[in-house]
Amino acid sequence: MPSRLVIGVDIGGTKLAAGVVDRDLRVHQRVQRSIEAKDSATLLDTMQDAVQELVKGSPAEIGGVGFGIPSLIDRRTGTSVVAINLPLDQLRVEALMAERLGLTVAVDNDGNVAALAEHRAGAGAGVRDLLMLTIGTGIGGGLILDGEVYRGAIGSGAELGHMVLALDGPPCQGNCPNHGCLEAMASGMALTREAHQLAAQRPDSALARAHAAGRALEGALVTELAHDGDAAAREVLELIGTRLGVALSSYVNIFNPELIVLGGGVMGAGEMLLAPARAQIAARALPPSRDVVRVERAHFGTEAGMIGAAVLALDEIDRRAGGAG
Ligand code: ADP
Ligand code: MG
Ligand code: ZN
Repeated sequence: MPSRLVIGVDIGGTKLAAGVVDRDLRVHQRVQRSIEAKDSATLLDTMQDAVQELVKGSPAEIGGVGFGIPSLIDRRTGTSVVAINLPLDQLRVEALMAERLGLTVAVDNDGNVAALAEHRAGAGAGVRDLLMLTIGTGIGGGLILDGEVYRGAIGSGAELGHMVLALDGPPCQGNCPNHGCLEAMASGMALTREAHQLAAQRPDSALARAHAAGRALEGALVTELAHDGDAAAREVLELIGTRLGVALSSYVNIFNPELIVLGGGVMGAGEMLLAPARAQIAARALPPSRDVVRVERAHFGTEAGMIGAAVLALDEIDRRAGGAG
């Protein structure tokens, strides 16, 4: 009888979130660790430590562990290749973690696993073609095409955050050599950058006053100030939402998805981001694709990655139990 419980681990640019998840995709225990990994050994230690804490506290045996990692993956060798914001480059994460943990381990890209969760039991249940963006520190992407996770030729595709929006735009983050990628234009990092710029231009705004008072212009604060009616803060979210919507119109034209699911911390801005994004799709995307696509927030919210990592682990233990591997 395959195990009832697994652990899903979502590794983001700034934090690790992990949870014990059952077959109905309910999360039982959770742990979080902030990631200040300067080197890969420290990062792997943090991953191992978080999992072992959950294993200890689990009411039943853990059958496997899934990891969603913010990295491109080369499935020919099982290596994580270009981790945009973390020291994961050239690591065989699956083999390394299986050895450290003594458990069945499955690894995929963080955006891919988030899409997997939403497709299996979230906003995209029953949908055959969807795409997902996780908008956090960076922007992760996942594609479900014809009911399956689409990974490309060697497993490193679906990097929807690295589609170029502006030819001479700002340099992209971390290890991406490009300029003006969606990630450089509409991620949480971009939001904070634009907030600083607008604060400097609008010294009378609440945004500028918060900055002058020494508060970090993080996304949550910008959203709060926008809710309170600050025009500058609203403008920042409108700008980010507009850029997002321009990118989404291209995806609509290319993939003709039935659904676009948006997750990650930046979606805390809600309608203030979604409304301008939808307006851009209406204005720019081609009919008939434009007229059928729905844009929704992730059902699993910021836990889509963690739950998708758990789905990955469940699928892997079922595959091994079925003897198909
Ligand atoms: P990661 O997984 O990459 O560490 P998260 O998905 O947790 O990131 O998202 C973190 C990002 O979301 C940060 O850039 C933060 O500024 C932004 N953020 C968090 N809450 C909000 C909010 N309510 N509105 C807008 N942005 C937010
Ligand atoms: Mg991806
Ligand atoms: Zn890029």
